[in-house]
Amino acid sequence: MFWSRLLGLLNSRESKKYDSADINVVRAPRRIATISSVSPVSGLPHPEEKPDYSHNLSNTSFADVQNKWFEVYSVPMQYRQYWRDKIVATVTNNIAYPAGTWEQNGVRHLAVKPEWLNPGVIAHEQANNSYALLTAEQKKGFSETYSSLKNTDSLIRLLYSKNPYGLTNDIEGHAEVYRYLAEQMPQQLKRYYPKLF
Ligand SMILES: [Zn+2]
Repeated sequence: MFWSRLLGLLNSRESKKYDSADINVVRAPRRIATISSVSPVSGLPHPEEKPDYSHNLSNTSFADVQNKWFEVYSVPMQYRQYWRDKIVATVTNNIAYPAGTWEQNGVRHLAVKPEWLNPGVIAHEQANNSYALLTAEQKKGFSETYSSLKNTDSLIRLLYSKNPYGLTNDIEGHAEVYRYLAEQMPQQLKRYYPKLF
């Protein structure tokens, strides 16, 4: 029953803030490239983790992997309870994409397939949830600052030379910059990542 309800939410017209861009992740050719010996995103502070197909619903724990994300990305201690308590997170096979976030009745949700449950994917998805905390004015500020930095900052340029997914739109760019650069992103962007720095 829960899963049909979840799917109902995913398909619901009411969940219009659903981050549909994440659906594209599953079809991105770069995922295929991860089976080669060369990392598609090498040289970045937080290289991409490969999907682990030994993961399933009974041998994975969202809480455990979220704790790894807290450590690896140095999420400030004072915000960790927020991420634990305020985001409704689900590990599920009943989604057609690796992971996604959406908003329903003022609550942010996160769903991830077990093989994609790793700190980097959580980092991306929680960055989507962090972005949702920005005011319209702050989103505008992010866009203005980021639109020039994405062409000048060496690490962002390296990221997009390896993996252009973040160029899809500013929301995905915001999330990809956090996922792969984290604390090494340009200082002036960090104010646009509430509860992550
Ligand atoms: Zn996203």
